[in-house]
Amino acid sequence: MRKIAVLGSTGSIGRQTLDECERHPDLFQVTALTANSSAELLFEQIRKFRPEIACLTGGMPESIPEDLAFCRFYPADQLENVAADCDADDLMVAVVGVAGLRATLAGRRAGKRILLANKETLVAGGHLVMDACRDVDGQPTLIPVDSEHSAIWQCLQAAGPNRPKKILLTASGGPFRTWSKEAIENADCAQALRHPTWNMGSKITVDSASMFNKALEIIEAKWLFNVEPEQIKVLVHPQSIVHSMIAFEDGAVLAQLGVPDMRVPILYAMTYPERVWSGVPAPDFAALSSLTFEAPDPERFPALRLAYQALSMGGAACAVLNAANEVAAQAFLSDRIRMGQVYRVVAGTLDRIGAPEADSLEAILEADRLARITANEFLKQVET
Ligand code: NDP
Ligand code: MG
Repeated sequence: MRKIAVLGSTGSIGRQTLDECERHPDLFQVTALTANSSAELLFEQIRKFRPEIACLTGGMPESIPEDLAFCRFYPADQLENVAADCDADDLMVAVVGVAGLRATLAGRRAGKRILLANKETLVAGGHLVMDACRDVDGQPTLIPVDSEHSAIWQCLQAAGPNRPKKILLTASGGPFRTWSKEAIENADCAQALRHPTWNMGSKITVDSASMFNKALEIIEAKWLFNVEPEQIKVLVHPQSIVHSMIAFEDGAVLAQLGVPDMRVPILYAMTYPERVWSGVPAPDFAALSSLTFEAPDPERFPALRLAYQALSMGGAACAVLNAANEVAAQAFLSDRIRMGQVYRVVAGTLDRIGAPEADSLEAILEADRLARITANEFLKQVET
């Protein structure tokens, strides 16, 4: 029986994590849960899973239901303390945004194994996180949950001592894959939220439409797998069956496949190195008409270029890119800007701020803060 704490339990990844805990009550005991503002859902989850600790990070409600007295509520803004204090073997970091960075580091310092869905944490503070998450006694202390990175991680296990020459990061292409540049520029939030293959939280769905999700994943892959940016290639694969691949020196390629359902990579992180039933059957290959691949179009999806640019700038440039994208995605979700302006806000912020120092958590969070101020200035300029 492993004890698990779920940060961001009311979100898409958080709820699917709890579904797997419910499917395997003999394997997992939930010891802490957090949400930002979804109080009613958090209360329901607490009733069902009976964690010792909980937190509503965005602010406490006026009262806590009496039947939840067994659970200790931490005050708002204490995600980091929940991560450190909870009695857990594994910490599922499923909050959205850079808010996960401090908590991830605090949880690791307190000896927890990190199951990392939250990509913004690695994008902003990759070197700090990887330093904190070195293997202990040959065992990993960080397991990726993002489907592409879980796929690459699984391929690397099969690779044994061989290092990959290239990482082939697949992308669905999102809802605008076949749209013209002009139509993408003018797309609004309702159009972006219609993702063809994955059902996810709203921020990552917007990121998938702008392709900033793949830009973040390029940076995520660089840190997780210690490869050079030139070794990472994005490949558009609309069916989302091949979750990613690695290519070797001799021309051989390993891929990990499955239907697009996050419960598989979530559960694999939770049960590693074993595999148990996730509720998701393997793909029915005979029923799949075809698997297709195409190169991403840098003209229609310029976000990808920014990931390589930020990586080559070094310092806290990736934290700047991430923060500007969080601001722009939020503005897009509130219908303040169109899709084309998301890119302009991020590119403008990265150009203006450049690559501040990144040698400590404080320095990274300061770069994040400055980038948000600048991104908000750009937002005012481009707002429709
Ligand atoms: P959701 O928006 O569905 O859920 C986010 C969770 O974090 C909710 O529990 C939310 O609480 C909480 N939260 C929101 N803001 C804050 C904050 N400032 N501080 C602390 N907690 C907060 O997101 P997803 O589950 O889709 O994504 C979570 C992370 O996993 C993201 O980084 C995403 O990129 C990554 N990911 C997601 C995938 C998916 O399929 N969904 C796939 C791969 C990666 P509340 O409900 O109260 O708002
Ligand atoms: Mg992904």
